[in-house]
Formats: sequence, C-alpha cells, structure tokens
Amino acid sequence: MTLSDLLSQRILSDGPLSIADYMAECLSNPQYGYYATQEPFGVSGDFITAPEISQMFGELLGLCLAQCWIDQGKPKSITLAEAGPGRGTLMADALRATQIIPEFHTALKLFLIETSERLRNIQAQTLRDYTPQWISATDELPQQPLFFLANEFFDALPIRQFQRQADYWRERRVNFAENQFFFEPDVPTVQPLLDHRINATVDGDIVEVCPAALPVIHNVSGRIAQYGGAALIVDYGNWRSLGDTLQAVQNHKMVPPLSTPGRVDLTAHVDFGALVRAAVCQHSKLVPQGLFLQRLGIVDRARKLTQSATIAQATEVKQALHRLTHHDQLGTHFKVLGLFPHGEASPLGLD
Ligand code: SAH
Repeated sequence: MTLSDLLSQRILSDGPLSIADYMAECLSNPQYGYYATQEPFGVSGDFITAPEISQMFGELLGLCLAQCWIDQGKPKSITLAEAGPGRGTLMADALRATQIIPEFHTALKLFLIETSERLRNIQAQTLRDYTPQWISATDELPQQPLFFLANEFFDALPIRQFQRQADYWRERRVNFAENQFFFEPDVPTVQPLLDHRINATVDGDIVEVCPAALPVIHNVSGRIAQYGGAALIVDYGNWRSLGDTLQAVQNHKMVPPLSTPGRVDLTAHVDFGALVRAAVCQHSKLVPQGLFLQRLGIVDRARKLTQSATIAQATEVKQALHRLTHHDQLGTHFKVLGLFPHGEASPLGLD
C-alpha cells in the first residue's frame, strides 16, 4: 500500500477530495505522510529554511521576544512556544541567545506544537537541555502570557481553493482517473465566507482559504490579548491571497503539486490578511524579513561572528546574511507579522 493507493481508493469510493483533505493526507498521514517519512530539511533534503541557513535567525527572533517580555514588565510565569519547530534549530538558537537574560529562562516553560512523531524525536535531541513539552494543537497551550514563534508553519497548513464563476464559486478538487491525480472544479455554489472577495476578483480568479490557520490564531491571539505576550509569524505570502499558490518542492526544485503524494513537500502562500482578521489582539505591519532582521541588528551580529571565524566560516556567515536578507533571496519574499496585546508597543523591528 502507498499513499497514492490510499488516496485513489478514497476518491473512487467517496468522490473527489478538497485540496485541504488531499494536502492533509500528503503532509500528515501518520504512516505515509511527508513529515512522517521524509527528511525535508537541509542540503540533502528538499528545502532549506531560515533557521537552518544560520544561527543568526533564531538568535534575533529569540532576543526580540525576550525584549517584549522585558517591556511587558517581566511576567514571572510564561509560555514560550513554537508551532512546527522542524528540527528544533530556531528554538535552540533563540534559547541560547536569551541565556544573557537568566530571569527570562527562569520564567519560561517551553511548549512545542508538532504533529510528526519523527520530528518530535529530533526536537527532543536538539532541545534536550530545556525539557520541552509537546502538544498537538494550540488549544492545549496554558492560560498564561504567551511568547510564540512560527516559521514556515502556516504555509504547511492545508488550503482550499475556489474559482470564481459569476457570483458563484467552484471548489477546486482532486480527482483520480487513468492512474493520475488531477484538479477538477466542483459545481458552482454560494460561499458566504468569500463575499468579501467578490469586489476585487473577476471571473476565473482563484482564491485560497486556510481553515486550519484560524483556530491557531484564535488560541494564540486570545492568550496574548488576555494575559500578555507576543507572536512572531514568519512566512511567504502577502496581505491577501490571489491565484493558485499551491506548490510542491522536491530536492530544491518545483515539481507538479499532484506528483508522488507524500514524497514531496506541499505548501501554499500565507494569506496574512485572513490571519489578522482572526486575531483578537493587536497586529503589527507586515514587514519583509530582510528589513526586520536588519532592524534587529543582523549586520552587526554577522560582523561579530566573522571576527573569530576562519576564512571559510566567515564566507559562510556572509553568504547566510545575503540569503536571509537580500531581496532576490528570502529577504522580501518572506514576511514577518507580529501579534501583541492592546496598549503595548509592537515587537522591535515591526513598527
Ligand atoms: N519551522 C521549521 C520547520 C518548518 S516545516 C523551520 O523553519 O525549519 C513545517 C513544520 O510544521 C514541521 O515541523 C511539521 O511537522 C509541522 N506541522 C505541519 N502541520 C502541522 C500541524 N497541523 N500541527 C503541528 N505541526 C505541524
């Protein structure tokens, strides 16, 4: 049995799947899913994320959150949480950098929101000095101030796609015939949840929604609004999703999204506008990652790292700085959104 067999049988018995159901099975099926079976990260994997490029990324994000904690009067008992921590690299760098603020470490309890058993085991190794607690969903986060990180987490959540036809929407579904998966629009339906998209779309346009993102934002922003804290959400996307952004990556190359289910990474651009509409606390501007990191002092940090480095290491640091901040690399494609309590200042670098 493969994931292709499982999905094709399901389609043959129940009819075409929503893209969200297809994506959820491909990424998170506990036996055959991508995160359960593949090693996505790094040069030998399918893609490299910012924390895997350089320690500077996690260090600066960690210090940014610790500064929010100081600005909010150093609450004594807090949650530090990350959604989708991958190999745990970002959190390890954030915790190492914030050791210069010992009271922050005394105050925090570390929570990791992760569904993949395989990745939980890797995170347990990377973060063995910090006794993390794993949870599967954000509703399990304690009711106390929350300092929250998510890098390339929201892009991995399943999306649904709808194609406009007059004032109706046809959901794009995944069907299977002649040994192949293919996209097929469903019948036109009224979608009250997409009423606000009618004015700025034309016939044929595709819009995406990410239902799974909403409870995450609801739970995270609810705790921040009620108890204090801050969130830094980093991902590719923009204020509003328009068009088909579903993409599959394998060995650092784009491949057709329906090829080899479970073997390729599937993501979609993040609709930051939808996240903000679901938030019950304040939100920052949407700031390009490169600008955000520069405002937090990444250039100085890189200079410091090169001072005690070999020539090869110094070259690596300079290349990492370029990749994280330059506009033709991750610098503008990736954006940072901050969430914070009413009456507080926006996290550093985001105002
Ligand atoms: N943040 C990491 C990894 C990004 S990959 C980095 O920047 O390197 C996406 C991560 O989200 C993986 O750890 C994956 O297992 C996790 N994930 C995907 N869907 C999830 C869900 N619904 N709940 C919790 N974790 C999820």
